[in-house]
Amino acid sequence: MNYCPSCGKKLSITQFKGKEYHQCECGYFDWNNWVHVSAVVVGYNHQNEFLMVQLKKEGNRLTFPGGFRDLGESIEQAAIREFKEETGLTITNLSLFKVYSKDEIRLVWIVFTGNVIEGSFIENEETEGYYFYSVHNPPPLQRLRGNLTTQLLMDVLNRNNT
Ligand SMILES: [Zn+2]
Repeated sequence: MNYCPSCGKKLSITQFKGKEYHQCECGYFDWNNWVHVSAVVVGYNHQNEFLMVQLKKEGNRLTFPGGFRDLGESIEQAAIREFKEETGLTITNLSLFKVYSKDEIRLVWIVFTGNVIEGSFIENEETEGYYFYSVHNPPPLQRLRGNLTTQLLMDVLNRNNT
C-alpha cells in the first residue's frame, strides 16, 4: 500500500520491533495484518449428523459450506447466504463455534454451528452435492479439501464426542 487509505497522502516506511511497516503523518499505521474473512457453517440435522459439501473443482473434495463475506453483509448473513447457495438448504440457530486462521493465504474462517432445515439440493457452480456425516460415519480423510477443513473436522468430531 503506497497511499494512506485515511487521508490519501503518500505513506512512509518505518521500523517497529525489527519489521518494516508503512505509516502516515496523519497517524494511520498499516500493521500489514489484513485478512479475507470467510463464514463457514457446520450444519446439523435431527440425527446430529453434520453436513459437508462435495466441490465441483479441486478434485471433488469435501469441505464445509461457506465463503467470503460481501462488503455490507454481517458474518452471519454471509454464512446463511453461502449455506443456501452451496446446498439449497436453509440454516437456522447459528451459534459461533470457532475461529481459524491461515496466514500463508491471509485467510480467517469464522465458523458457526447451526440446524439444517431439510430441503432439496439446488444446482450451483461450486458444489456437486452434500452428505451428512457423524462421529460413527466420518468422511474419508483423504478427500478433505485442505488443512483448515481437516482442523475443523477434528474439532467437530471431538465436539460430538463430548
Ligand atoms: Zn494519512
